[in-house]
Amino acid sequence: MKFRDLGLQYHHLRSEIDSSIARVLNNGVFIGGEPVQNLENELSEYVGVEHCITCANGTDALKLALMAWDIGPGDAVFVPDFTFFSSGEVVSAVGATPVFVDVDSTTFNISPSCLNYAISYVLSNTELKPRAVITVDLFGLPADYQQIRTICDKCDLLLLEDAAQSFGGAIGDRKTCSFGDISTTSFFPAKPLGCYGDGGAVFTDNKEWASLIRSYAVHGKGSMKYDNIRIGMNSRLDSIQAAILSVKLAAFVDYELSAVNEIACRYTELSKEHGIEKLGIELPVVPEGYMSSWAQYTLKLPNEIDRERFREGLNELAIPTMVYYPKPMHEQRAFKITGFILPTACTVADELCASVLSLPMSPYLTDENLHDVINSLLRVGHNLNM
Ligand SMILES: *Cc1c(COP(=O)(O)O)cnc(C)c1O
Repeated sequence: MKFRDLGLQYHHLRSEIDSSIARVLNNGVFIGGEPVQNLENELSEYVGVEHCITCANGTDALKLALMAWDIGPGDAVFVPDFTFFSSGEVVSAVGATPVFVDVDSTTFNISPSCLNYAISYVLSNTELKPRAVITVDLFGLPADYQQIRTICDKCDLLLLEDAAQSFGGAIGDRKTCSFGDISTTSFFPAKPLGCYGDGGAVFTDNKEWASLIRSYAVHGKGSMKYDNIRIGMNSRLDSIQAAILSVKLAAFVDYELSAVNEIACRYTELSKEHGIEKLGIELPVVPEGYMSSWAQYTLKLPNEIDRERFREGLNELAIPTMVYYPKPMHEQRAFKITGFILPTACTVADELCASVLSLPMSPYLTDENLHDVINSLLRVGHNLNM
């Protein structure tokens, strides 16, 4: 079993993907063109947002949003302490200061009450101007947008949704990539909707920001390519990647998203049947009305268990696992150099970094695979006297 078997998906979609790539090769247009235009239309329609601008990766997508808002030195941006490095990296990259905020212990997403406290802390203890909140829909589960949006409105903060892991997730009938003033995603191969290289996208209903982002993504272009009116970057999605993504998006909407949700349910069902929770292991929780796109199925191991020994045990039974993430943002050395604010200790993030374990996950796992994982968890648990 692989942790995320991308080969299986290719096997399913092979003829369509191959002919889609061949069309691009025959057309000889490798940057922009119809495949990119078509994909942007398909994505914005699926998500339900007016503008979609594809770019080179999910990190650039976040950075482009901050550039469009002119966020930079002297500005504070609130970021969950438990996330992939990019969510905080982009804040420092534009010269602003990240403020790390603790997360909720059941959803793993930014805690609204900690966010409230962090905002007042910055206002009373620093010279920084609070400008934006970056929410992360961690492991595929949307953040608590009802509460976060209220806080942003009250405090006049822009909301940037980092939906790199949550494409396809939803709250009610509203999809991820639509909750932010600007929202972004990543098409890194292992994400819920991945391409065969790097890729990303920015979503917004705001026309002005959309055209600023289109400009920043292509060297700050003005009316045409060789008229440069601002310092930008070169961040585009290749035509080949766009052609691949159109095929994959259709499969994602058609059956992958529901398949991965069924697999998550089955993991939970089998875990309960086999008493996994009696080992002190906690299963992921999806709040009422929320839908995850299950970038990861992540367990919390009991504190007293040696996670590395547990992983080794599973590895010996051919079950690959990953630790997302071993280190909270506030402990990353890079931020110690560039500066950050930590209004309170992030005890939940610290605890999660020490206890999380992600299991193999993909829409193509079989029931046999799932039994195999659950039986191996039990065996290793018993061997370690859990
Ligand atoms: C993957 C990821 C990113 C960055 O995406 P890339 O396409 O790899 O640049 C940003 N934020 C989160 C939460 C991610 O998981």
